[in-house]
Amino acid sequence: MKTIGYAAHSADTPLVPYTFERRGLRADDVAIDILYCGVCHSDLHTARGDWAGTVYPNIPGHEIVGRVTAVGPDVSKFAVGDTVAVGCMVDSCQDCDRCHDDEEQYCRNGFTATYNSPDRITGDNTLGGYSKHVIVREAFVLRVPETLDVSRVAPLLCAGITTYSPLRTWNVGEGSRVGVIGMGGLGHMAIKLAVGLGAHVTVISRSPSKEADARELGADAFLISSDRAAMKAARNSFDLIVDTVPVKHDLNPYMPLLDVDGTLCLVGQVGPLEELVSVPLIMGRRRVAGSLIGGIAETQEVLDFCGRMNILPECEMIRMDEINTAFERMEKADVRYRFVIDMSSLEVPDAA
Ligand code: NAP
Ligand code: ZN
Repeated sequence: MKTIGYAAHSADTPLVPYTFERRGLRADDVAIDILYCGVCHSDLHTARGDWAGTVYPNIPGHEIVGRVTAVGPDVSKFAVGDTVAVGCMVDSCQDCDRCHDDEEQYCRNGFTATYNSPDRITGDNTLGGYSKHVIVREAFVLRVPETLDVSRVAPLLCAGITTYSPLRTWNVGEGSRVGVIGMGGLGHMAIKLAVGLGAHVTVISRSPSKEADARELGADAFLISSDRAAMKAARNSFDLIVDTVPVKHDLNPYMPLLDVDGTLCLVGQVGPLEELVSVPLIMGRRRVAGSLIGGIAETQEVLDFCGRMNILPECEMIRMDEINTAFERMEKADVRYRFVIDMSSLEVPDAA
């Protein structure tokens, strides 16, 4: 199937329109017309080559919402016309203990990412959701609850599940004390989801500029990380801190904020951090952990949870041709709080 997307052709050139072929429908595949795609900071990291291994041309995008246009003969869960979603994974071995345990993100044989990953059958590099169409194995397609505004669902597929998963892993519920470092795409979802689970939520941000928004999204408290007195007063007051900062940073100022047995879970920076001092770890049995997206079952769980609670991301809708400006604004943390591409703004040339 001939389609069009926006691709990066190198680390230092803007994304441009790119016409390409999607694979033919396999027996267990679902073909999807993409309606919306969220813009994750990981898209920017990948397009810019911040992480090793970007294959160009690269089409990012792993927060996909669309409509089913065709299904293979073995597909049983979806039909033409269904509103569906695709997140960060499009395949895995389905055979290892992690896959059997609904944690495909930790597949022993490596999951297939929605973009920049070799297809398990052809070896072709996967191309993501900044495009008009995508074809995905049924087991990796998600149902979108009918109650949700379809134009605002996309960020749940990465920002939502990536912050929901640690909240569930560390049993966040009524009365849990949760901190969220960095109020961007992931951070603002962490606030809404933790509040939805009943937690007392504090945003830890670099400046006071997002305080009013944080409180509007349901946060109970706001801590400015450069305010030493406030940071000192907040010591020992968190069970879990979710750290969404996308660049190398210093964890040491945050560790004393955790109570005994508290955990700081990294979901942002992938790569080196500043040197970590062990004293707060040892003196309070505190932990530093990490977490990667979430499994397919848990992604469906967060979609359904948001459907029940009517939790939706704060989205700024953009046209496909505004993506390069959106990337620049995201680098400056100037996004409130997730860009979503309206894919109707992208025309397929001679659609044949
Ligand atoms: P984002 O929308 O750009 O938000 C990041 C937030 O971090 C900013 O809004 C800002 O919040 C804070 N920040 C930015 N630069 C900073 C700096 N230099 N120092 C301290 N704080 C800074 O990004 P995102 O889409 O939420 O993604 C965040 C990170 O998570 C990215 O690195 C992305 O690749 C990663 N990620 C990981 C997973 C996973 O599975 N673990 C999944 C998706 C994304 P304040 O203005 O409030 O300080
Ligand atoms: Zn993402």
